[in-house]
Amino acid sequence: MSADIIDGNAIAGKIRAELKIRAENLAQHGMQSGLAVILVGDDPASCIYVRNKAKACRESGIRSEVYNFPGETSQETVLQHIHALNANPEIHGILVQLPLPPHFESHRVIAAIAIEKDVDGFHPCNVGALATGNALFYPCTPYGVMMMLKERDVLIEGQHAVVVGRSNIVGKPISLMLLERGATVTICTSKTRILAEHTRNADILVVATGKPRMITADMVKSGATVIDVGINRMDDGTLCGDVDFTSVKEKAGHITPVPGGVGPMTITMLMSNAIEAAERARAAM
Ligand code: NDP
Repeated sequence: MSADIIDGNAIAGKIRAELKIRAENLAQHGMQSGLAVILVGDDPASCIYVRNKAKACRESGIRSEVYNFPGETSQETVLQHIHALNANPEIHGILVQLPLPPHFESHRVIAAIAIEKDVDGFHPCNVGALATGNALFYPCTPYGVMMMLKERDVLIEGQHAVVVGRSNIVGKPISLMLLERGATVTICTSKTRILAEHTRNADILVVATGKPRMITADMVKSGATVIDVGINRMDDGTLCGDVDFTSVKEKAGHITPVPGGVGPMTITMLMSNAIEAAERARAAM
């Protein structure tokens, strides 16, 4: 039987509608969530991401300020700018578009963001807080994955979750979030000896490797929930995930497509974190 396809656009649309109401609520109290986006250089992919974020902000009633510094800008200049944004009461969220040029120490730049404005959830204090079950902000992609599981009432507690990939932005945080919710979590990497031996045991399989269609139907347990985080641009210009969607959808219970799966959720959860940051600032007034 063919799997239930988890439509990320539909779930994101629902969440965006709720966010709009929350933004209107803030407006009634004379407040608007403000998100500052820092972009250094002119990497084409980063420029597209930043444009998409600014558009999503407009649609969600969030005011965005994009600071595009030339690629040769010094780290000190960007740090000073972050300090000024930290002190600006009209800015509730700050994000630095990664990757930064090679002369930057990304960890120092991220660590300069005030933790209550760290809407990407990448500040080392927020990473530590996530590990101890007290996250101030969940990183956007894993947060989106959890919202998709919630939307479909996927049982997490007591289930075996296998995460393929250990990046700081996807693999590690989603593993911690599933662990926090009571799953038994296995994390696989490029060094894992026989990957299929692990993936075949997964009730929930989350794949974030950047390797097109590497998870095939024989690697998936019948009825499993398969979340494909990968976004790969193929030579013919089409996008595909890390999961072989065509074969795996015949075996899985639930599956996310690419495009139209986790992708639209990521930016939506950024909007959610930005609204949340403003609501907290208001509550603290
Ligand atoms: P990274 O390159 O940072 O990490 C990839 C991970 O996959 C590494 O931990 C690597 O292992 C592991 N890996 C690579 N090959 C294999 C393999 N053959 N078997 C098992 N593990 C393997 O990638 P990201 O986490 O940043 O991104 C992963 C994918 O998700 C990309 O396609 C990216 O575009 C997409 N993405 C999508 C987002 C969305 O919004 N939908 C957001 C962020 C990312 P090792 O550590 O041993 O090298």
